[in-house]
Amino acid sequence: MTDALKLHSPTALLDALCTCIEKDIHPLSTPAVAAGSKLFGAAILRKSDLSVVYADTNQERGSPLWHGETWTLKQFFEIPADQRPQVDGCLFLTTHEPCSLCLSAILWSGFDNFIYMYTYEETHHVFECNGDLDIFNDVFNVRQGETGRQASLDGKLAQIRPQYKLRSSRLVALSFAELLAAITDKMTQAEYLAKVSRVKTSYGRLSEAYRRNMSVEE
Ligand SMILES: [Zn+2]
Repeated sequence: MTDALKLHSPTALLDALCTCIEKDIHPLSTPAVAAGSKLFGAAILRKSDLSVVYADTNQERGSPLWHGETWTLKQFFEIPADQRPQVDGCLFLTTHEPCSLCLSAILWSGFDNFIYMYTYEETHHVFECNGDLDIFNDVFNVRQGETGRQASLDGKLAQIRPQYKLRSSRLVALSFAELLAAITDKMTQAEYLAKVSRVKTSYGRLSEAYRRNMSVEE
């Protein structure tokens, strides 16, 4: 992962990742959400030139296991081995910080990284999807930590944010917020803050369609 960070500036990474969400993931999420799946998607990009190898979206309508990340991984490995890049040459993009299922699936698939846009706290508060933090809290030995206190929006969440290793020999996990913070020029940083905010707002509107569909079904 550090090789990709050396190859590309934070702004080049954010340009490629935002474009991938807007042009590759969002158009797939819209019909999937309309059909009853949750929003959130994922994509696999080459570290070398940030080109998109494969992108897809949540397919929970078909199975509760097909979150955006697990479905994308399944589809990626169905590409014949001689026609897809090696996993160690790829970045894993996910629209949101991966749940325990997907975090493990990304690692079990051999990726040494993932980059995400929405945090657990945003998924919990903005989209009212509580499963990620609830499962960490109910199943794993999740302890309050410094990162949790800083990142959380209230005292309750501070106690349940998982303290997975964001930097290790096995994994580098990066948020869009960290990429934004790494932009040194303040004017450029403000420009990219606005850009990410636009992508978040646009993609996040799908949650309204999801809630509408769910309330119609109930
Ligand atoms: Zn998941």
